[in-house]
Amino acid sequence: PTVIETREISKKYVMGSEVVHALKSITIQINRGEYVAFMGPSGSGKSTLMNIVGALDTPTSGQYILNGKDVSNMTENELAEIRNKEIGFVFQTFNLLPRSTSLENVALPLIYAGYNKADRTERAMQALTSVGLGDRAHHKPNELSGGQRQRVAIARALVNDPSIILADEPTGNLDTKTSYDIMDLFEKLYSQGNTIIMVTHEEDIAEYAHRVVRLRDGLIETDRLNEHIRSVQ
Ligand code: ADP
Ligand code: ADP
Repeated sequence: PTVIETREISKKYVMGSEVVHALKSITIQINRGEYVAFMGPSGSGKSTLMNIVGALDTPTSGQYILNGKDVSNMTENELAEIRNKEIGFVFQTFNLLPRSTSLENVALPLIYAGYNKADRTERAMQALTSVGLGDRAHHKPNELSGGQRQRVAIARALVNDPSIILADEPTGNLDTKTSYDIMDLFEKLYSQGNTIIMVTHEEDIAEYAHRVVRLRDGLIETDRLNEHIRSVQ
């Protein structure tokens, strides 16, 4: 089934007398269980496309259909509800609450989703265990390494069982070895049936995805399957 479908979406930013055509006409379909990397030079429209796919923003024209629902013209409140239900976000800078423990950070989306405390704790522990951090549940971010912080953020993205995981430069703040560890984790999530979309400008990171979409000047330049899909370890 199709999770994401954009139909000729464009995005224009108006700044005074200047109009920036950040996306020109993007038509793309992504099915459940795909692992896609968006690549492209700075200014090619990656962030703008991610913001639309993540229901953080709406296109100027064209349609965006997420799980069969037309998201293109939703209000900010409707978009917020879609985000909470459907999307797990992973950021370059982790975006964890510094005074909260791993468990509290991971449980946060479940508060908005209306789970009671016992269920929140149980689900958050499960998510932490699934990223290999069951023994760090009561640590705060500053007591964790960069890779561990990103794992907490990934557990938080997973805890609501979202339709898609959107990762914006997920290895941008990590050293090489830790970056590969995080990619191994993504590969595991992918093999478990999760749909993953990541933005990266690093070729060796994009190689982990099974499909690579390259943007240039607000258009899709190429969209192809990675030749060497890695063997599952
Ligand atoms: P990338 O993520 O590939 O670097 P962006 O989507 O951030 O590309 O930007 C695409 C183009 O749109 C760039 O020219 C950028 O300067 C412009 N742009 C992005 N966001 C805004 C904004 N909020 N206001 C004005 N221009 C923007
Ligand atoms: P990234 O490092 O993910 O490519 P960018 O530097 O492109 O991020 O953009 C960071 C944020 O600033 C984004 O939310 C984007 O929409 C916004 N932005 C990018 N370019 C401009 C611009 N020219 N004017 C205003 N906002 C912009």
